[in-house]
Amino acid sequence: MDFYFPDSQDQIEPTYDFIAEERSPFRVRQRDDRYAHEIHKKPVYSGILVSKSIVDGIGGAGRYTAAQRNRLYRLGVREFFRLRDRRDPSLKSMGDCGAFSYAAQPAPPFTPDDVIDFYEGCGFDQGIAIDHVIFGYRADADTDGGAEEAWIERQALNVKLAEAFLERWRSRGCQFEPVGVAHGWSPRSYSDSVARLQDLGYRRIALGGMVPLKTLQIIECLEAIDEVRDVDTSFHLLGVTRTENVTSFASYGVASFDSTSPFRQAFKDDKDNYYWKGRTYTALRIPQVEGNVKLSARIRAGQINQGEAHRLEQRALRAVRAYDQDQASIISALSALRAYDELQGRKDLTERYRETLEDRPWKRCRCGVCTSAGVEVILFRGTERNKRRGFHNLFVFNQRLQGHLGPPRRRATPVASA
Ligand SMILES: [Zn+2]
Repeated sequence: MDFYFPDSQDQIEPTYDFIAEERSPFRVRQRDDRYAHEIHKKPVYSGILVSKSIVDGIGGAGRYTAAQRNRLYRLGVREFFRLRDRRDPSLKSMGDCGAFSYAAQPAPPFTPDDVIDFYEGCGFDQGIAIDHVIFGYRADADTDGGAEEAWIERQALNVKLAEAFLERWRSRGCQFEPVGVAHGWSPRSYSDSVARLQDLGYRRIALGGMVPLKTLQIIECLEAIDEVRDVDTSFHLLGVTRTENVTSFASYGVASFDSTSPFRQAFKDDKDNYYWKGRTYTALRIPQVEGNVKLSARIRAGQINQGEAHRLEQRALRAVRAYDQDQASIISALSALRAYDELQGRKDLTERYRETLEDRPWKRCRCGVCTSAGVEVILFRGTERNKRRGFHNLFVFNQRLQGHLGPPRRRATPVASA
């Protein structure tokens, strides 16, 4: 099962000083900052997924400066992301349109040639056809005919776009592998889309719009799709959020998926922030008094005393670092954390913090992040620590994935019939 990590220009600065909380004055972002695949000794994903919307800044999705965008187009995806520097040359690149960013518009803002220019110009290994998201899921629509007109129109548009994309791919003699996208609102509508895409010649098909679906709903769609699936067709699941069941989809021909969840949970989840074998830990919340939006607002509103916040913040930092060095007890670390949490009106996380501190997973982890950042990786504090924890999660997630299925197998690369 191949795992693709969606790019959002998330990088860390390897020389960041955790004690002074300063970046190197000599840092040049594009030269010195590192992607997740550069931090770990072994690849933590099979490849990266880059969205044209994120590169071009469509619908507020932009993560690239004009200079970065120009560099990507000039250097190509392998050199821009330094994929070619990997000792393992198998790190792949997949491009897509980022359909969620223009989902509210009546039609995608790109032509097939615009998108092919992006894929071909940047040298992607695989390129996903232009698509338009269908919002809504109703399994009953298969029997009562209750599909909305807008859904049916978008499905027809998707097939038309996939046909035009493949036609241009053929006539331009493109190098990348074309990937169709199936959208639907029910098991049968998904299987209809897949059948149409196979008829057009696609052998690799992404399944879109499944983000909000429950696992059982995804399985009922995969079962319906399985009935029309050609033996050499394989699937990519776009934007998986509940990753725990993803390996069980392999029997339905799902060969790859992409997900930001392992990374984002590091700093978006209420409690599951640090992945570990068979479980997760809660990160220790010690937000910076300066730079934390919520905290700063409450200080300005006079609800929190700034001097007191500083004192408790520094005390919590000292106590946790001293505990890490066996120079303070777990009780003192927990009480310092609780005092700072209380000042911010945060609910009591003491029992979760106790587990984190007692087990000290950061000392046991051999990943490229934990071996260099130490206890700092477990602190929920600022982007340099939070992204490092996300990179650590990618390492553990990949290990889980490999453990489920054994070593990754080489697949024959299917191409659309010309
Ligand atoms: Zn680690």
